Amino acid sequence: KIVYTLMPYTFLFQVLLQAQKELLYYGGCGISVLEMSHRSADFSKILKSTEHLLRELLNIPDNYKVLFLQGGGTGQFSAVPLNLIGLKGDRCADYLVTGQWSAKAAKEAEKYGKINIVHPKLDSYGKIPDPSSWTLNPSASYVYYCCNETVHGVEFNFIPETNGVVLVSDMSSNFLSRPVDVSKFGLIFAGAQKNVGCAGVTVVIVREDLLGHTLKECPVILDYKVQAEMNSLYNTPPCFSVYIMALVLEWIKNNGGSTAMEKLSKQKSSMIYDIVDTSNGFYVCLVDGSCRSRMNITFRVGKKEGDEALEKEFLDGASKRGMMSLKGHRSFGGIRASLYNAVTLEDTEALAAYMKEFLKEHQ
Ligand code: PLP
Repeated sequence: KIVYTLMPYTFLFQVLLQAQKELLYYGGCGISVLEMSHRSADFSKILKSTEHLLRELLNIPDNYKVLFLQGGGTGQFSAVPLNLIGLKGDRCADYLVTGQWSAKAAKEAEKYGKINIVHPKLDSYGKIPDPSSWTLNPSASYVYYCCNETVHGVEFNFIPETNGVVLVSDMSSNFLSRPVDVSKFGLIFAGAQKNVGCAGVTVVIVREDLLGHTLKECPVILDYKVQAEMNSLYNTPPCFSVYIMALVLEWIKNNGGSTAMEKLSKQKSSMIYDIVDTSNGFYVCLVDGSCRSRMNITFRVGKKEGDEALEKEFLDGASKRGMMSLKGHRSFGGIRASLYNAVTLEDTEALAAYMKEFLKEHQ
């Protein structure tokens, strides 16, 4: 068996096999998706079926457009303000900054308007400030938050209340890992590479009435209205990444959809958090219990600040067992187990068994 265990960008094995099978000849059309024109009837079918699957899996209302764009989550840090900050005359927006990704998004947005961080600045990322401490600005064009902070492992388990102000969410690292009521949002975006495919394509789900308020300096490829009118074909889309996304979405559908993904994610993450919490401080998770991520489980080994030698030993041992990419983000250190949709219960059990063994040996 090829081991893709616990890789942050892990792929569903069946999807890889199918992509391999179809690499040279896609369907009955005698050529590869890699060779197709993005304006061909065959690619048009792929694009339509990807959108259809996404609409079905997330129950996306008809008054929302679904776009498949390039530029990643980072591209959206610019696209969101460029398209939406002009919704109201004051050109201001509210941001929740609960980790590295929302901090980057807020910094980028500052180029285009006045950005208000709605809560007292956090000394370190590991909790979500209580909504009673937020000061939302009623004349903000939108309220922005990152639903799952991938680096620190902080996840919202509630939808922020904005008193009618448009809500925008970066769901790059927990997209389709649970059902979501799209109608509560003005815009959701997500890079595909964590839960729904491979790098190269970013999904944007945007309410129709928000289109057409773009700042004049917005580059045309980031203009949602232009892309929506052209069905994401204003310029060449990342065709192969869209095709892979369709395969992954099909897999999610055949495996019980977003509800099943949520159940699985809870089972997997609580298996690891339970070991951390019963390790008498050997494993330490610095994230508050109320917002621990189901996707990215971060912890230190040995002590609160992490014992670097022990952490290295832990990672070496894991790698010998075929568990890759457990090293925490370079800006944060420690260990990070990313339990995206493609990581199986068995993969997680293997990590759990190893963590118990390592604890026994070193305690
Ligand atoms: N937002 C979140 C939550 C992420 O985890 C990432 C990347 O890991 C990004 C945005 C940036 O995405 P990209 O690298 O596709 O620009």
